[in-house]
Amino acid sequence: MTLVYVALGANLADPVQQLNQAVVALKKIAITGEITVSSYYSSTPMGDVVQPDYVNAVACFNTQLDPIELLNSLQEIEQRQGRVRNERWGPRTLDLDLLLYGLDTIDLPRLRVPHYGMKERSFVLIPLAEIAEDLILPCHQALKSLLTPEMRRSLHKIPNRN
Ligand code: ATP
Ligand code: CA
Ligand code: CA
Repeated sequence: MTLVYVALGANLADPVQQLNQAVVALKKIAITGEITVSSYYSSTPMGDVVQPDYVNAVACFNTQLDPIELLNSLQEIEQRQGRVRNERWGPRTLDLDLLLYGLDTIDLPRLRVPHYGMKERSFVLIPLAEIAEDLILPCHQALKSLLTPEMRRSLHKIPNRN
């Protein structure tokens, strides 16, 4: 059994509802159906594609799936919720990134854990810190040490129900 953290993001087709639906799906792959979910946050998109703002959150749960099985499950949930892969960092109904798989470091063609971008992304770090304030990353860095006042200012909590 391994404690995992997953980042959720959506900016199409009622993003709050997409995240609510994804949370229901994640409960089905969590042991005893128990998961912890952060507040939902609104963030401006990364990159140059003009697109709606994102709704982001982070979820944490225990699973018996191995890392690739978990990635497959996350991608199945994305597919079920209508994910279409177009340009990099383009708009999407749902993005589920595996941030942390216990303290494992994984470097496979399909799966890199910790997620390569997590340390720089406020829309990942702020919700992660909300549910795991004292987290120490596999590289031994404290999550708190990565958070800047600017990051905290860049995100806003939003209601998690439409
Ligand atoms: P970014 O990865 O920069 O957040 P993205 O989420 O838009 O961008 P995707 O198109 O969703 O990128 O994913 C591209 C590929 O990344 C996936 O097919 C998957 O195999 C791979 N991948 C590698 N590491 C991870 C991870 N930790 N979590 C999810 N996918 C991963
Ligand atoms: Ca992503
Ligand atoms: Ca992704």
